[in-house]
Amino acid sequence: MKFVCHLCGKTFMHPAKKTTNKLAFSTDGTLMTVESSFEEHVCPNCKGNDYDEIPEEVSEKKTVGICEVPVEEADRLLKLNEGWVITQDYAKGVRMRKYAEAV
Ligand SMILES: [Zn+2]
Repeated sequence: MKFVCHLCGKTFMHPAKKTTNKLAFSTDGTLMTVESSFEEHVCPNCKGNDYDEIPEEVSEKKTVGICEVPVEEADRLLKLNEGWVITQDYAKGVRMRKYAEAV
């Protein structure tokens, strides 16, 4: 999953956590205490909270191959480390998908 920030335009994989404290003041305006705090997820770059998830189909990963193979063959393909991933498991084999290298 990938996100894009609308404030700084950067993309990121994991939103950062930001803790915001709500402060309580006495009647004469002096700070009393931290009344409550809450966590929100923000852009790790600019700490803004105006970001959206990028839909899977516009990500840079492009499918270059699909195959259905026995489990042993799947093991072999995974070990090649050429971008094959298992997308579905069957009783007697797996469906695999190969993605183009991310640029
Ligand atoms: Zn940002």
